[in-house]
Amino acid sequence: MNAIDAPICPRCLRHIPNDTSPGAYSGAGSRWDRSIEICSPCGFGEAAGRGVIPPDQWPIDLSQPPEKLNFTGKWPAQ
Ligand SMILES: [Zn+2]
Repeated sequence: MNAIDAPICPRCLRHIPNDTSPGAYSGAGSRWDRSIEICSPCGFGEAAGRGVIPPDQWPIDLSQPPEKLNFTGKWPAQ
């Protein structure tokens, strides 16, 4: 699958599962609603980053790293 056909994450508008391998495999189910497929970085972000952000606030602002102290990963800045 090429990048054009790959699904887009509604939370951050990047490709699912990520921009490196668009469409290579399924993304994560959002913790807000498991039926909503989001990208791998967003799945991690919900678990360890900013936490669950309601879909009415999507797409999220990726330019600012999360303030939460429990975020230990590399923030995928654009
Ligand atoms: Zn995403």
